[in-house]
Amino acid sequence: MNNGQYFAFNIWDFESARAVIDAAESIRHDVILQTSTGIYKSLPARVFSDFVKSYAAYKGIQAWLNLDHCKEKETIFHAVNSGWDMVMADGSSLPIQQNVDFTNEVISYAHSRGVFVEAEVGQVKGIEDDVIVRQDAIASREEIAEFLHKTDVDFIAVAFGNAHGEYKAEPDLHYDLVEYTTSITDKPFVVHGGSGLSDEVLTKLIHIPGVKKLNISTDLKTAYKRGIEKSCGAWSQPINASKIIHDEIMSEAVAKMKLLGRRK
Ligand SMILES: [Zn+2]
Repeated sequence: MNNGQYFAFNIWDFESARAVIDAAESIRHDVILQTSTGIYKSLPARVFSDFVKSYAAYKGIQAWLNLDHCKEKETIFHAVNSGWDMVMADGSSLPIQQNVDFTNEVISYAHSRGVFVEAEVGQVKGIEDDVIVRQDAIASREEIAEFLHKTDVDFIAVAFGNAHGEYKAEPDLHYDLVEYTTSITDKPFVVHGGSGLSDEVLTKLIHIPGVKKLNISTDLKTAYKRGIEKSCGAWSQPINASKIIHDEIMSEAVAKMKLLGRRK
């Protein structure tokens, strides 16, 4: 993937995928689209990946598809065989050795089919859990080193105080863990829970060499909700409502991707 830096946006249907690809085209930057396991199962996988590839090609950019946070081997293998470019083998809730074993099993299946694998050490807390990350969810240096030594993972995510969903309090990010990880490996580092981090924080992360993928989910869904509300107020025809929603999602994605440009 050209060793570039990318935002990875969680999309939920064809229209949200189209809005993100339009955003990428508008600033001429390649992009990663990702689906949660639940969304993956709601989509006609092969038709969806064909759509993403052909629409991105039509727009003259690259769009990669990732299966985000998946704990189910069968679903991961299905995505590998359905045109997904990357899969996240999420064994982060398992003891470290089981996480290693699970990841390695996915790697041996995915790599032989040309698909990249992401994995996570430590647990990035989800919206269902307490949003403020508990200390014990943060990865230890020993576990990170052990995991990287025992796997040939393509993208590494580490819980460093980040969280999924909205941050209820100012996040206490352990930048030293990000820097430690990127100092011991040249594998691309993934920032989960990018939604709700300020532009300043995202920019600071973007400036750490080795940070290559920044995940945004909640912010895009919030933009969708804004679009729905606006479109109800301005209701005339479905096509007008669709455009208002599309443009809200697109401008949110553009605003995030423009942060990458600040690097130059
Ligand atoms: Zn995540």
